[in-house]
Amino acid sequence: MDAEILSIGEELLLGETVDTNSAWIARMLSCAGVKARHFQTVGDELAEIKAAFRLAMSRSGLIVATGGLGPTEDDLTREGLCEACGGIEMEYRPEVLRWMSERVGRPMESLAECNKRQAMVPRGAAMFRNEWGTAPGIYLERDGRHIFLLPGVPREMRGLFEKYALPIVREKFARGGERILVKELHCFGIPESDLNQRICECMRRGANPDVGTRVAQGVCSVRMVARGRTEQEAAEAMAQVESRIREALSEYIFGEDSDTLASVCARILLSKGLTVAIAESCTGGLLCGALTAIPGISRSFLEGAVVYSNDAKILRAGVPAGLIAEKGAVSAEVAAAMAEGIRKGLGADIGIGVTGIAGPTGGTPEKPVGLVYFGCSSRIGTETFHRRFPGERDTIRERSVQTALDMLRRAAMRI
Ligand code: AMP
Ligand code: MG
Repeated sequence: MDAEILSIGEELLLGETVDTNSAWIARMLSCAGVKARHFQTVGDELAEIKAAFRLAMSRSGLIVATGGLGPTEDDLTREGLCEACGGIEMEYRPEVLRWMSERVGRPMESLAECNKRQAMVPRGAAMFRNEWGTAPGIYLERDGRHIFLLPGVPREMRGLFEKYALPIVREKFARGGERILVKELHCFGIPESDLNQRICECMRRGANPDVGTRVAQGVCSVRMVARGRTEQEAAEAMAQVESRIREALSEYIFGEDSDTLASVCARILLSKGLTVAIAESCTGGLLCGALTAIPGISRSFLEGAVVYSNDAKILRAGVPAGLIAEKGAVSAEVAAAMAEGIRKGLGADIGIGVTGIAGPTGGTPEKPVGLVYFGCSSRIGTETFHRRFPGERDTIRERSVQTALDMLRRAAMRI
């Protein structure tokens, strides 16, 4: 059974709001073993919304629409669906107003007239109480189609989808009792083409598990979708392919599913009781930001310094002035000195130094834009390496953060 996602809102057509809802819903559906094959985006026009539902109902068994459920005149999703279904009537559902009044802590009578529009719902639809906002989610079964209407605000949409829509999807769309397991393995430091080469024998079309790859922020992920008549059968199929893939990519795999480079770094540091200090230049605090985004990291993260100027490198990270004069601020020697200097300051187990040219200006033939040096210091010594990242300033900085996290991860595993 195919799924279709409808995004409704003029702001999406104008490019003012990026349609993150569709991507998120598609991902959640894929994890439940349902593929979203069609996407539509329409503005706040009744005729367009009606036509979009008509088209969706002609080809998809599961339809998830977001947006246009608010209290104002341009929120027409409910009406559009009713018309597309050949004129279902709307009915007044007092519980919606009760939910609303409980949420805002005011009596029902005092709610604005426009809020009462939200209590008008397609006849026969089920409703999901919105704990995150006022517009309820709506679920309608019609001619064997399953139709969900969810608010556009991403936080509300996610809450309602996970709590109410997903369980229904899982129940209705589990094909003939089939069980589906989904797992991702995340790799860093290997280009997607090399990765594909190594695991191509696992990626045959129609194989079980179905194996695919994707790349985001330098992280290359392998997604495995295993099917079986029972959970155990699916798990066995998954385990076989997973072990083959792990073997082929062992040195690059850093985590699975919701793991990120930062969360894995934090987990290793914390579990081994290791401390870290960071001196970063071209990443301007992003590296420390990524690490400190992980809860509990205070037991490992001692200090981070943004040593942007030469003076800061000298004063805060203890880099010898002569070294900068001789080798340049962007050099392996200075990256090493930054890592060593910041580590010694507070006696951390691991010190990290990052220095590079993020551009777009400041590059030279010898030291082009995108050249970044990484230093890592611990009791077993100091190592450095460099990368030449393509792309714009943002990409270079983002890639530098990821590369530094991977370096930290490897160091933390070794010592
Ligand atoms: P609505 O439910 O139409 O009142 O939408 C409320 C707000 O949610 C809009 O103003 C947008 O900022 C946001 N929003 C609506 N649709 C989407 C979408 N597809 N992706 C991300 N944000 C959205
Ligand atoms: Mg809207």
